[in-house]
Order: sequence, then structure tokens, then C-alpha cells
Amino acid sequence: MAEYDLHIYCESCNQTHPKGIKVTIDGGPLRKISVGAFYAGRQFPRKLESFLGRGAVCPNTGKLFKQNDIYKIFLIPIDDTE
Ligand SMILES: [Zn+2]
Repeated sequence: MAEYDLHIYCESCNQTHPKGIKVTIDGGPLRKISVGAFYAGRQFPRKLESFLGRGAVCPNTGKLFKQNDIYKIFLIPIDDTE
């Protein structure tokens, strides 16, 4: 099981911000990839689906924002060797 940080793209500042949510995915990607690209044509795991709808706070505007485009939500592998 690999562990990932979820990052979402913020339209206000053109950056990706961490959602502050960690997910474990069996057979997940080895490097950063969008959820949309990784699960293209496939059903994503239910536990991941429940996280996707959640917003994140933009550190620059201080506002909660949401991203509905799954191609702008990224899985970032957490390197547990550090
Ligand atoms: Zn932002």
C-alpha cells in the first residue's frame, strides 16, 4: 500500500495546494499524477471519491476553495524513506 498526499489546483493563484489529506492506494502511481489521468476510464476507490469533493484552504487568499476537475487534483507519493 502506497501513501499519497492529495493536492489540488487553485484557480486563484495558479498553484497546487495540499488538501491536508493522506490516502493509501493499493497499486497506486509511483510519481505525481492527476486523479483523472490515473483513473482514466476506471472507477476510483470509494474512499478516494469521498475525499475529492472536499475543499482546501488557499494559503494565499485564506479562503476555502473547491476543485471539481479531477484532472486538477493530484496524487503525490509520500516518500517514507526520509
Ligand atoms: Zn491558492
